[in-house]
Amino acid sequence: MKIEIQGLNKIYPNGNHALKDINLEFGTGMFGLLGPNGAGKSSLMRILVTLMKPTSGIVLVEGWDIQKHRKELRSMLGYLPQDFRFFTSLKTWEFLDYSGSLAGMKNKKLRIAEVDRLLDQVGLLEVRDRQANRLSGGMKRRLGIAQALIGNPRIIVVDEPTTGLDPDERIRFRNILSHLSQHEVTIILSTHIVGDISSTCQGMALLNRGELVFAGAPENLVKQAEGHVFKLNLTPSEYEVVKERYNVISTIPVEDGWEVQIVSDDVPDYSYSQITPNIEDAYVYYMEHKLQADISE
Ligand code: ADP
Repeated sequence: MKIEIQGLNKIYPNGNHALKDINLEFGTGMFGLLGPNGAGKSSLMRILVTLMKPTSGIVLVEGWDIQKHRKELRSMLGYLPQDFRFFTSLKTWEFLDYSGSLAGMKNKKLRIAEVDRLLDQVGLLEVRDRQANRLSGGMKRRLGIAQALIGNPRIIVVDEPTTGLDPDERIRFRNILSHLSQHEVTIILSTHIVGDISSTCQGMALLNRGELVFAGAPENLVKQAEGHVFKLNLTPSEYEVVKERYNVISTIPVEDGWEVQIVSDDVPDYSYSQITPNIEDAYVYYMEHKLQADISE
C-alpha cells in the first residue's frame, strides 16, 4: 500500500500547531514514526485513521484521498490507539470475536478460527478463556494488537505500543510486528523510544515540534552521525570543561576520571577515539545537537 502525505497541517482550536507542512511517502513494510512527546505523532496517526481531519493537506492511499474514501479506508485498516483499554467483562476470545464482528467478519465459524489463530500468533491462546480485563499489562497490549489485526487489514497503525512494557514484552511485541511486516501489509508504528525503531523498519520519520526533521531509512539517520561521535578519557577537571562545551551523551566513571562520549561537529580538543554511532547516538546527535545548532545559526 502506497501512502502519500502532502502538505499536512493540523492546528487545534486552541491554536496548537501540531503538524507543520508534513510531506512523506512510504509503502509496504514497517514504517517507524519517532519523536519526543508532543512531536505530533498521535495527531498524524489520528488523521491517518480518519478519526480527525487535517486543517490542510491530504493523505492518499494508493492514490485515493482518505477523507473522500473513509469507509473504504476503514475496511482495510487496523488501529491500536495509544490509550487502548478494555471496559469489558468479556473473555479474551469473546472480546476478539466481537472485534471481528465489528471488522465485518460475518461468518461465525471462520471468525472463531481466525480468533484462535490470532490468539496463537500473539501468544495468548492459553489465556483465551480469561476475562480480558484481568490480563497483565503486556498481555492486554498483545490483545490490542490482535484486535487491530482481525479482519486481515492491509494497513496497521499502532500508536506508542510499547509504552509501559517491560523489556521482555517490548521485544516480544517488536517480533510480532516484524513478523507481520513480512506479509505485504503496511505497518505504521509510532514511538518515543529510539530502540523500538529496529532494523526491521524499512523507513522512518523523525518529528520534532510538529515538523518533519528526517525521513529515510534508519541506516541513513545513523550515517548522518558518522564522524560526529567521540570517546574521550578525561580527568575530573577536564570533564568539567568538556561538560560545558560539548554535548555529552554518556559518562562512565573510570579509575582516574571519566570516560565520556560526546557528539560534536568539530574534532574535540582532547585525545579521542571515534565511535561508530548506533541509532540512539544518531537520534541524540540529530535532536539535541544538529537541530539546536541549525536553530541558533
Ligand atoms: P505526540 O503523539 O508526538 O506526543 P501529539 O500529536 O499528541 O504528539 O501532540 C502534538 C501537539 O499537539 C502537542 O503540543 C499537544 O499538546 C497538542 N495537542 C494534542 N492534542 C490536542 C488537542 N486535542 N487539543 C489541543 N492541542 C492538542
